[in-house]
Amino acid sequence: MIPTIFPHEIYKCPLCSITLQGPSITEQWKCGTCNSTVTIYAEDHEGRRHTINRLRPSEVSEDFLVVLPISGFQHIHSIIDVTKEDEVYRIALRNYRVKRYQPDELLNCVIGGW
Ligand SMILES: [Zn+2]
Repeated sequence: MIPTIFPHEIYKCPLCSITLQGPSITEQWKCGTCNSTVTIYAEDHEGRRHTINRLRPSEVSEDFLVVLPISGFQHIHSIIDVTKEDEVYRIALRNYRVKRYQPDELLNCVIGGW
């Protein structure tokens, strides 16, 4: 089963224009039909709502917006820099710090509101 992070999440494929259920989403958070990145409509414990993508560190770059599950949408950090050292990604987040990610770890990237 796919791991959920926010208390309320709805999954949609932006290309197929349908709501996706767990089994039709791949482990990399792509649509099982067309491989598009799944759009996640997420609401945190305080009722703040944003749309997000779950992306691996190889898929993000400077200026992407990252939300850390621990803080909900109260704090959204832009990426300053991504570097790769051996197999570990070092991602510098504005107003936070550098976080290390394994290649298969997922970042919650804010793409809009709803
Ligand atoms: Zn699709």
